[in-house]
Order: sequence, then C-alpha cells, then structure tokens
Amino acid sequence: MAKERLPSRSDNFSDWYNKLVLRAELADYAPVRGCMVIRPYGWALWENIQAALNQRFKATGHENAAFPLFIPSNFMEREREHIEGFSPELAVVTIGGGEELEEPLIVRPTSETIIGHMYAKWIKSYRDLPVLINLWNSVVRWELRTKLFLRTTEFYWQEGHTAHATEEEAKAETRQMLDVYEDFAENEAAVPVVKGRKSEREKFAGAKQSFSIEAMMGDTRALQAATSHNLGDNFARAFEIRYLDRENTLQYCWTTSWGLSTRFIGAIIMVHGDDQGLIMPPKLAPYQVVIVPIFKNPDERSVVMEAIDTIQSKLFDFRVKLDDRDELTPGFKFNEWELRGVPVRIEVGPKDVAKGTVILARRDLPGKEGKKIVKQNGLENVVAELLDEIHASIYKRAKSFQEANMHSPKDYDEFIKAVEHGWANTWWCGDQACEAEIKDETKATTRCIPLDQNGEKGICIHCGQPATERVIFARAY
Ligand SMILES: [Zn+2]
Repeated sequence: MAKERLPSRSDNFSDWYNKLVLRAELADYAPVRGCMVIRPYGWALWENIQAALNQRFKATGHENAAFPLFIPSNFMEREREHIEGFSPELAVVTIGGGEELEEPLIVRPTSETIIGHMYAKWIKSYRDLPVLINLWNSVVRWELRTKLFLRTTEFYWQEGHTAHATEEEAKAETRQMLDVYEDFAENEAAVPVVKGRKSEREKFAGAKQSFSIEAMMGDTRALQAATSHNLGDNFARAFEIRYLDRENTLQYCWTTSWGLSTRFIGAIIMVHGDDQGLIMPPKLAPYQVVIVPIFKNPDERSVVMEAIDTIQSKLFDFRVKLDDRDELTPGFKFNEWELRGVPVRIEVGPKDVAKGTVILARRDLPGKEGKKIVKQNGLENVVAELLDEIHASIYKRAKSFQEANMHSPKDYDEFIKAVEHGWANTWWCGDQACEAEIKDETKATTRCIPLDQNGEKGICIHCGQPATERVIFARAY
C-alpha cells in the first residue's frame, strides 16, 4: 500500500502541486486534453466555496439563474474589444444533428453577450432596475498550456451580471463585489489578498475598468483570485439595453460582471499546503475533523467504536469523517488525512476510552507540538475553538509570507531581483509600452494598482517618467 512520497514543495513547487492534486484525489486529467475531472473531494470543497459565496451574494440582493451553453456567433461580434479578446480562445460548433448550422454557435467563454440580449428584452423601465443575477456554470476557453484548476479549457465558476440605472450605481456594485470576494478569501479561505484595479492591458475585454483580488502563492507567484468589472455602457450600447427613466426619456443601462472560479482551489492548495500535503482552511474543508480508531483486537475495537459513537454525536455541528477501514493501520490513515489536509484529527484508543479522553492533532502544526489530550466531555467546544485557531494561524502564516516577499525596490536592478522571488510594490507611469517592456525583460506583469494609495507622487521604476500610483508587479499563474 505504500505510496511514493510527495515531492518536496521547496525543491519543485510545480511537481509538488501536480502530484498533490492527483494524490489528494481533488481532480484528474480528462481524456480531452486541457479538461479536468473534479473528483468528489475536490467537488465537496467547491460546494463549500459555493455555499459561502451564495450566502454573500444573496445577502447583497442577488439571485441565481441559468443561461444556455451556446451563444449565437453574431452576439460575440457586437462588442469590439470583447471579440478581439476572446476570439483566439473560442470553441465553435458548426454541425448540429448531422447538418451544418446556418449560424455557428459559440460555446460560452463568458456570458456578457447573451445576458445583454436577454436584459434588453427584460428591462423596459426604471422600475425594472437594478437587475442582479448570478450564474453558476462552466465555460470554455481553448487553452494550449494547461494545469489542473489553474488553467483548463473548461472550468467551473460563478459569473455575476448586473444592470443599473446610473453609472454611479454600477461603480458601487463593482466595488461592493470586490469587497465580497476579499471578505470570502480572507474570512473563509484564510487567503490574504491585495485589492486593486487592473491596468488597461490586463483588464477584461470589453470592460471600462476591471478590479481584482490578488493572492501570493507559496512560490511567491501571484494568482488573480477573483475579478469584478465595471462594463460602463459598452454592452448596453452593443445590445440596446435601455430603459425609460422617470421623465420618460430612453436611457442606456450601466452593467457589471464579476467572477470567481475553480482556480481558487488552486490558490487554497498553493497558499496553505506543505511537504506533507494539503492544509484545508477549516471553514471550507470537506471534512473538518477525521476520527481514527486505534485498537489491536476485536474486544478493543468494540470498546473504541462505542466511545466513537458518543463522540460523533457531540460533533454533529461539524463535517466529520470516521475512518473505520479495518484493513489499514492508524499510521497509514494519519498520513493519508494529512496529505488530504483535514484540519483536525481525533485519535481514540482503549486507554483514551478508559480515561474519558481523546487525542487531538492539528494539521497545521505537525508532530508533538500540534497534539494534545483533551476530555471527551465538552469536546465540541474544544474542536470549535481549535478550528478557529487553525484558521487564524494559517491566515497569519500566509500574511507574514506575503509581507516578507513584498518588496519596494529602489531602482530597476533591484526591481529585477525583487520579481524573481517575490512581488514588487513600486511606482509605475501607467504607459502600456513601458508595461510591455517590463514584461519582456522580467516576465513580471502588473497584477493590480492597489486601492490603498497614499496620494504621493514618484517616478516610474522602469522609464523614469512621472508616476502617480504604486503598482504591484509579479510573475503570475
Ligand atoms: Zn514607465
């Protein structure tokens, strides 16, 4: 049963990641290149992500709906930047039912266009606004170089689409959803993020302004963890989404879109994982607690299992897995659940039963340091506190790592070194040509222009032109 050891995270981060995703049974490669199969353990994590986001989306007035997979090809062409941005990645259906189609159908890469078409039909008056809809679906973008969760041809996500009467409202919605994502990332996934605006070059194709939350992975590369776009009136004009205002004048709507995808699972793996495997953030973990019985003979087994029955009934508020597979040793089970990142392990042996105690082991602190003996009486409170403590502890660890690898280079030579193994927070002129040169020379791209700016002025780290904003540069997934 012995499995090959996981590659060390520090030796080969990429190999560590690929093998971990497979070994932890989060996902597998599909027969079609670039596609992935999300296995039950990975899907359970995604369902918990969905639940945490749905709660926030609904609390801010949004409703879920479902839109079709196919989009008429002429829809995509109506917004110029949008089609230019997406055309290289489109999957197009030309044959249906054995016959060539009159108009090819596009497998949705995102739904702004079909949303635009339907909103134009539904919105007539200021009384119909705002429209606040979210979709949970999968989309297809043809990718040549793929990596499970991070970049696949088909991926799962949510896409929010809203329409508003005024530009101000649309702007406020864009920022509100960015805040929702930040709150989710930090308070559910324990992933610290930087909120900011995307540069013109990095913004969504067809957006007026894009915002993102950016997270630092364990190898210091950046991952765009979610985006929120102010679409201005671009799609409203392309699809004639108009309404009659209170004065009976026809006005264009102002729209937004925002999304978070299964890429976020990649972030959870790469932010928290270690050489032993995954570390699941307690609030999203498919199993928050695993119980491993320890016994040597059938008599001990029945004593231990009876005690576990009582323990399980105390823990009904938590997601608990009892690993009662008889054919495996406790040691094997410990390793397996460590690899799969379960935050808390409870060990119960005959001696523990006799003393009315259990052994608690926390995943984020391996070895003796993370183990303690606690009473069965009141165990549910101890577990609740421990899960909170683990959340705080892994968040703090990730935040310290982010701060330690966030550099403020003094000149371009320092900048080059900074982005080799970290992020650079630096003055940048805002010029697209300058940004492209930096990318060619260092592979670092602008991740975001942080919303927190102190209002000072500086000079661009690369070209020396005046700069009014500090920008995060990093190599990114
Ligand atoms: Zn510059």
